[in-house]
Amino acid sequence: MRCPYCGQTKNRVVDSRTSREGRAVRRRRECQGCGERFTTYEVVEERPLSIKKRDGSFEPFDRAKLIRGIQLACKKRPVTLAQIEEIADSILEGLERSESGEVESWQIGEQVMHRLRDLDQVAYVRFASVYTNFQDPEEYLETIRDLAQRGGYDAAQLDFLESALGEDLARKSKGKKEPPE
Ligand SMILES: [Zn+2]
Repeated sequence: MRCPYCGQTKNRVVDSRTSREGRAVRRRRECQGCGERFTTYEVVEERPLSIKKRDGSFEPFDRAKLIRGIQLACKKRPVTLAQIEEIADSILEGLERSESGEVESWQIGEQVMHRLRDLDQVAYVRFASVYTNFQDPEEYLETIRDLAQRGGYDAAQLDFLESALGEDLARKSKGKKEPPE
């Protein structure tokens, strides 16, 4: 490691400690040429993590984008940013542990849905509706029934959900032409 003051490459480490929550080692070094001290950091080489999309293309994993997506589903719901970040980070950790550093977009969607289902049913269905891009209102209702069957659900939440769904379905069907008689 070259001294930034004199260019000498001989130095000794006078202090070494972990930093950045264990993600880095910080070392104070003393140049054996001029005696100045400087700091170096050793970090794990970050792998680019990528998401394979449905069309087969790849895009870099973007934590902020994932958080924004979950936030949209949680709008006006009692889900905190900390809870949303925890979901995103657990997905990121899984990806970091994976051998390939690649994950398919549907797998991320499933994981988010799985976590949201336990957290907030409205946010869950909202996320699911965007993520799976329900074409069929029946599919939507199936999700609701599925939720109801799980039991332990909050009746007030489900009412809210059904009214929200009613509006959504009305909006969707408005765009469709009536079949000719
Ligand atoms: Zn030096």
